[in-house]
Amino acid sequence: MSQTKIDRRDFLTSSIAVAGTSAILASDSQAADSQEKAEARSAETGTAYTGETIQGKKVISRLNADDLEPGRKHFLYFRGVQMPGGQPWYVSVVVAKGVRPGKRFTLTSGVHGDEMSSIHTVQTVIDRLDPTQMSGTVMAVLDIARPALESMQRRWPNSGRGVDLIDMNREWPGDENGASATSRHAGLLFNRLLKPNTDLAIDFHTGTTGLEVAAFVIGDRNLPDVKTMSDLYPVGLMWDDPAYPGVLHNAFVDVGIPCFTPEVGAARVLDKDMIALFVEGTLNVLKHYGVIGGPIGRTAADANMLIGDGAFPIIATHGGLVEFQAKLDGDVKAGQTIAVQRNMFGEVVAEYTTAVDGRLAAYRTDASSDPGNVLAFVLFRRPGSPPHAGAHPDSEKSYPE
Ligand SMILES: [Zn+2]
Repeated sequence: MSQTKIDRRDFLTSSIAVAGTSAILASDSQAADSQEKAEARSAETGTAYTGETIQGKKVISRLNADDLEPGRKHFLYFRGVQMPGGQPWYVSVVVAKGVRPGKRFTLTSGVHGDEMSSIHTVQTVIDRLDPTQMSGTVMAVLDIARPALESMQRRWPNSGRGVDLIDMNREWPGDENGASATSRHAGLLFNRLLKPNTDLAIDFHTGTTGLEVAAFVIGDRNLPDVKTMSDLYPVGLMWDDPAYPGVLHNAFVDVGIPCFTPEVGAARVLDKDMIALFVEGTLNVLKHYGVIGGPIGRTAADANMLIGDGAFPIIATHGGLVEFQAKLDGDVKAGQTIAVQRNMFGEVVAEYTTAVDGRLAAYRTDASSDPGNVLAFVLFRRPGSPPHAGAHPDSEKSYPE
């Protein structure tokens, strides 16, 4: 009996409900007393400190930002899923809590582990905030896919069947009892940190290793707050798109939290010029919603933002070295040659053209390619067509976030 009680307490504090634990709970539910139920309710809404301190940062397993002292920044570790060795992955969280009530913004980065400029953008925004002058809250969650970050790679190495590489940005909103550690980590973060503390969210990304992108934002302009936020970024491109299932910004939108994704240039590097644009845009957003004061800086209007509702993918048909003949972020015309590909003799084996007029929004920087890889995307506007008709690419490889 006492063993059962320990099981239940563990369940209540960690809610890692494996099937066996659930069965024990179901058979023993009559015995649960009202005090335990009250404790459970409190544990589900209040900030839960695990009692650990790591490198001076307190560890939480749940956050209610209402519990935090106003007028300062709080630096915390959120306890995520366990590694195979049994220790948890800890995710870095900064909460800038204003002295007055207001909108609660969440800025996320590191859902892909090779996207450094996204992290630096969020760090820089947080650094610019003075909570003693703020209304509302800005929460930064910086290194979401910890194991992917540790090895500077897009995907989460998972020990499922040998080494799986799991794209965490196909797992949201996750499942605390899911079939992979990645899904469970997403579920813990989404249920206990992100969703309960957020009115509006921005999930920062960059291109991926081997595929560089122009400065752009992805979001669904049918959502008024997404349109408002996107138009406050001084960048030249927007892909107006309802996004891909399993993507974090979609998961936010699905629970009624407006969210979109900025793309801050190339993976693996800190692109200071790009970062500056996205910091300026994010500060504009916080000013617009009254979280901070100050004049609005440059916006999408200043950058003459092209709003595309389609992304035309150029897919390699051959193996070989790919040489681009069009510039990233440059305008291209239907029929224009974007790249040529040569085999190892130097013979041209393929010539790739765009079928649409638009802007070259992403291109492959790894010079060699297998057949089937995405070599480039041309972002384009479909004149006269409904905003999203046929615009959505239907393969994971074709989504450039
Ligand atoms: Zn990404």
